[in-house]
Amino acid sequence: MPSVLIAEDDEDIALILSRLLKRAGYTVTHAPDGQRAFEMAVADRPDVVLTDLGMPRMDGLELTRSIRAHPELRDTPIVMLSGHLHPGDSGPIAAGVCVVLLKPCPNDRLREVVTELTELGAHGHSGADSGCPAIWPVSV
Ligand SMILES: [Zn+2]
Repeated sequence: MPSVLIAEDDEDIALILSRLLKRAGYTVTHAPDGQRAFEMAVADRPDVVLTDLGMPRMDGLELTRSIRAHPELRDTPIVMLSGHLHPGDSGPIAAGVCVVLLKPCPNDRLREVVTELTELGAHGHSGADSGCPAIWPVSV
């Protein structure tokens, strides 16, 4: 079963996302902040990381940069889910996020994006080697 690591400080949202993805057949783990999410990513090697933007200790952009800088995690697909971004903000894509979704994201769209990235699998994010779809925004 493919695995998704959710980095989300809002427990209610984390529970909703977790249920949604478990029902879709994923193994789901959850971290309440970016620092813990990074530690869990190193330990568990999730197939996809789904991260919030604003979180304590380490935010979603720092988490993304840390994963992209890690030799064994850097090709991991990352989805950012946030209600605090301005449409067109290039920060997440520049940090290495694959897909940005705005909250509230329809369940179908979230499942679709996670499925697409699971099927795409690990892929490069630097220059000519990039196999990343880097989509922003895909849902408003
Ligand atoms: Zn990517």
